[in-house]
Amino acid sequence: MRTSKRWTAWILAVLLISCIAVPAGMAAPAETGPVVITLDPGHGGPDSGAVANGRKESDLNLTICQYIKQYLEEYENVEVYMTRTTREEGPELEERIKIGVSHHSDAVVSFHLDAGGGTGSLALVTNGLYDPYGKKDSDYALADSILNSLKVNAGIPTRGRQITNTTDYYWPNGKPADHFKNNYYGILNGVTSMIIENCFLDSADYSRYLNTDEKLRIIARADAAGIADYYGLKRYDYKHHWSRPYVETALERGWVAGYDEYHFRPDNVLTRGQCAAIFAKFSPDYTEDEELTATFPDIKGTEYYAKPVAWAQKNGILSGYPNGNFGPDDGVTREQMALIIQKYLAYRGKETNVSEAGWEKMKSFSDASEISAWAQEGVAFCLEQGILAGMSSEVFSPGTKTTRGQFCVMLTQLEEKIA
Ligand SMILES: [Zn+2]
Repeated sequence: MRTSKRWTAWILAVLLISCIAVPAGMAAPAETGPVVITLDPGHGGPDSGAVANGRKESDLNLTICQYIKQYLEEYENVEVYMTRTTREEGPELEERIKIGVSHHSDAVVSFHLDAGGGTGSLALVTNGLYDPYGKKDSDYALADSILNSLKVNAGIPTRGRQITNTTDYYWPNGKPADHFKNNYYGILNGVTSMIIENCFLDSADYSRYLNTDEKLRIIARADAAGIADYYGLKRYDYKHHWSRPYVETALERGWVAGYDEYHFRPDNVLTRGQCAAIFAKFSPDYTEDEELTATFPDIKGTEYYAKPVAWAQKNGILSGYPNGNFGPDDGVTREQMALIIQKYLAYRGKETNVSEAGWEKMKSFSDASEISAWAQEGVAFCLEQGILAGMSSEVFSPGTKTTRGQFCVMLTQLEEKIA
């Protein structure tokens, strides 16, 4: 772990500093450099580990670890290494720890699948009878974080932590050593190490958690999140989303704001209140008018979107429901959005007539009859202008809600139309 500062572009300002602080409760001492994790896919080479359901544990461990690496690397300030990257390699256990040590790893986490029948995840950890580097408590905490994430994020019940002593060899202080060599060599080398049994290969766990690529990804994502949680790693949600370039443009231009530096939540539904507030920021001539108040009974006037809603109402961009309410927390449907966009462009002085081509395009969708009468011209207009497309070539889906990421795409397209 480190306490470091990095410069980063932030939402509204030209230059801002973000200090990545070590979260409270962190057990790791302050060092310099990123968090370094070495992933150890259990077994490999001639050692297949468990074999069941026509699958080798060694191969599944490798696939899961490759996905864990991919997901961990979505976080900031982390380096990830692997003890093996092919099915053919099968380093000795001491060698695996030494690979981790050579990368100055904060932890070497070995991932396995259990066998012998049963269900759930398990962490095999040091017995703590010899702890010259004082790492036992933090090792246990990392193990707990991974097990908890497997439970919360992958639905895998936890069997908890387990220690296994041996009297075949002893710690330097004469006490029984760790039976598992990963833990034994981890302790001797002063690096956090443990074995995580994600679940069982040879029980009903296989069809529950392992029998598709998507399920392996769910496990890997949970393992990565457990590691990230423990080390307080941060992840920019929009930087790993299809809408990234549009969200970044919208953030840089100040049209939108995130929930915090790391969370834009691009898949969240855009609410009508957010929509009004964003259009206000998008409009160079918008000013907050002290006198102006929205006339909707469900808007008190103190909300962050109250003035923008009043402005949008006055300029004919957004209107309320037939019952008089505005519904600020309701999601903006696709047909609502189409009408809003048409009205917004009219407000900006653009031509918003619809030609026959637009109407034909709208009618070509199999669900055209589901588009509300009041929204049809807006939908035809947006289709003709290429601001909206169908959900597929056949379906428009007028009632589907617009997401925050989708709205960023529309804003960048609108800016081009207005320019
Ligand atoms: Zn194994």
